[in-house]
Amino acid sequence: MIVTIDGPSGAGKSTVANQLAKRLGFRHIDSGAIYRALTLLALKHNRDIEGEDLSDFFRGLDIRYEFLDDGSFRLLVNGEDVSDAIRSDEVSNKVSIVAKKKEYRDIVNDILRRLVVGGDFVLDGRDMGSEVFPNAEVKFYLTASLEERARRRYEDYKMMGIEKDMGDVKKELEERDEKDMNREYGALKKADDSFYIDTTNKKIKEVVEEMETKIKERLQKEEESDADEYFQQLLEEKREPIMEDIEGIKKGKVVHIDDSVV
Ligand code: C5P
Repeated sequence: MIVTIDGPSGAGKSTVANQLAKRLGFRHIDSGAIYRALTLLALKHNRDIEGEDLSDFFRGLDIRYEFLDDGSFRLLVNGEDVSDAIRSDEVSNKVSIVAKKKEYRDIVNDILRRLVVGGDFVLDGRDMGSEVFPNAEVKFYLTASLEERARRRYEDYKMMGIEKDMGDVKKELEERDEKDMNREYGALKKADDSFYIDTTNKKIKEVVEEMETKIKERLQKEEESDADEYFQQLLEEKREPIMEDIEGIKKGKVVHIDDSVV
């Protein structure tokens, strides 16, 4: 199952995605981390992010996620753990240059689509539900007021031992929103079929529980429609149900089949 969470910076996507993944036994992929990793590597290799075409360089990088049991992850590029280095100010300031180019977005999207094959994932970013995974089973759009997002970012910086002016943090966020919402490709957008959650006055736990409920409702619906499909097939083929199949299907549905039908 694929669950997507999109929204602006500071809406709480990563924190919530992490906890949700842990509760559901899914894996969490932070798509922004890949944009950050590409930016970091370009900087490390003294490449001209704005002027050069870095497509081949980016494609040649070996980018891997290492999923940990606590729902978190480490990001490895060419075998090196870059999970902390990608959060530097320098990377934060340059990443939007990488994120606005269609060629680079295509590279990131290929990596993401390959990563999720056959698994259960929670992916967070800006365009996960609207562009990259349009068929995701459950989509969320998380947001919060600018003041609240700035307050959270300010606290994050404080935890990392970085003293910043609240006004500057707010300005940074506004600038980032502007870039994220108005770029030509992969702009931040609410997918029409996503659940909108305003986290301004909500606790993390509350948001996670609200999302978990929606996901479980969806799983239940899927089970029911699987059962409907299965029994419809039996009716069409006039054959008997197989017990192992039935065990996996909701019991309430089994009573619809009787000897007169099969
Ligand atoms: O989420 P985070 O702030 O770490 O993302 C880093 C940058 O990557 C953001 O500035 C955003 O513009 C970009 N990004 C993106 N598409 C995504 C995820 C992140 O363009 N799906």
